[in-house]
Amino acid sequence: MQIFDLVIIGAGAAGLFCAGLAGQRGQRVLLIDHSERLAEKIRISGGGRCNFTNRDVGPANFLSENPAYCRSALARYSSQDFVALVQKHGIRFHEKHKGQLFCDDSSEQIIQMLLAECDAGGVQRWQPSTVADVQTPPEGDSEGAGFTLETSRGVVKTKALVVATGGLSIPKIGASDWGLRLAKRLGHNIIEPRAALVPLTFDADAWAPFSALSGLSLPVIVSTGKGKARGRFLEDLLFTHRGLSGPAILQISSYWQEGENLQIDLAPDLDLVAKLMEAKSDSRRQLGNELASLFPQRLAQAWLDRLGLSGSRPMPECKDRDLQSLAGQLQGWQLTPNGSEGWRKAEVMRGGVDTRQLNSQNMQSKRVPGLYFIGEVVDVTGWLGGYNFQWAWSSAAACARSLGAN
Ligand code: FAD
Repeated sequence: MQIFDLVIIGAGAAGLFCAGLAGQRGQRVLLIDHSERLAEKIRISGGGRCNFTNRDVGPANFLSENPAYCRSALARYSSQDFVALVQKHGIRFHEKHKGQLFCDDSSEQIIQMLLAECDAGGVQRWQPSTVADVQTPPEGDSEGAGFTLETSRGVVKTKALVVATGGLSIPKIGASDWGLRLAKRLGHNIIEPRAALVPLTFDADAWAPFSALSGLSLPVIVSTGKGKARGRFLEDLLFTHRGLSGPAILQISSYWQEGENLQIDLAPDLDLVAKLMEAKSDSRRQLGNELASLFPQRLAQAWLDRLGLSGSRPMPECKDRDLQSLAGQLQGWQLTPNGSEGWRKAEVMRGGVDTRQLNSQNMQSKRVPGLYFIGEVVDVTGWLGGYNFQWAWSSAAACARSLGAN
């Protein structure tokens, strides 16, 4: 039997980072992953360049049943801290849209950086290795017996156990519900897991008029929900054969609930009624051409068809009522998804281990002392844009810094 101070299950973003930090603080750390290749989600992230954080990160960029939970960890290990580590390792990066930071070369560099940090902490890695059973410490645990793990490489004892098994998206690269099942078995509440940052789909009949727009992309404002559960984003929308995708839809998918409408403004920052009325008095152009000067041609035609309006009518002959209705439909498009593309396409999981049963200072369970949950397995879900990795780094740091000698 081998004895460790800390065993971490899951060698993804959070598990690798926690292992390196804890090892460098003098902990004897074992990191276990059931996959042949570790950190697959880092590898495929950001189109292979890993959007590893965002310049501007705060609790408002996350969804959770307990929105204040992430505040402390994000403040104590910020995106600037992670950027400093990336710079220390000489990884070149650049800023894209809205503060998103990407590697110039490859996400593999982030993996190599995390592995180098693990090596510096003397972390042992077992991979592939599975954990069949976890026995919690005996009541009181005055002897310091800790947790007993039955792994595919033998029995292991550890004082602290960290669950970093991630979310349920993309099962073919190692996602599993192991962490959620363990949490539940040990008395934790689970906020229902749902696919998030995912394309949305529609009934085939309802979508038929729009399927010809597949491939078309344009900036929109999309919103859904009410009160504190309301989401609203100004981002690009992409039409697909089955429904809608693009950053606008991935973002709003995290807020969307079954049966709810989406509201889409296809002409953000434009007073379309005023613009069309002005064109009616000033322009001799046809309605179709006028609209095509403001929107992609295919989209303009699709909306004229929906409202039964002729694109060849000269602007001065258009009825005010028709122009108002056209503007209203383009700026207040209401539609109800029938679902999403699911775990196969989702970038993250919404929901997970209920944070009201965890300590926000160190991620420790309030039910089982010595047990910790970090990263995506926890009910903290970031927006698109580097926020989910930042939660992995920040929650891992909060946990690792509470362990260790110095
Ligand atoms: P993971 O990184 O998923 O790691 C979990 C690990 O646990 C895996 O290695 C898995 O093999 C292991 N594991 C699971 N079950 C078991 C088990 N039973 N036993 C042992 N090991 C187990 N976020 C961003 O911020 N920026 C991006 O650019 C970005 N791009 C993404 C692109 C895609 C296609 C996807 C799917 C996600 C993307 N994300 C991005 C989200 C981000 O990858 C995750 O939020 C992040 O990896 C979560 O870190 P984690 O350590 O909690 O989980």
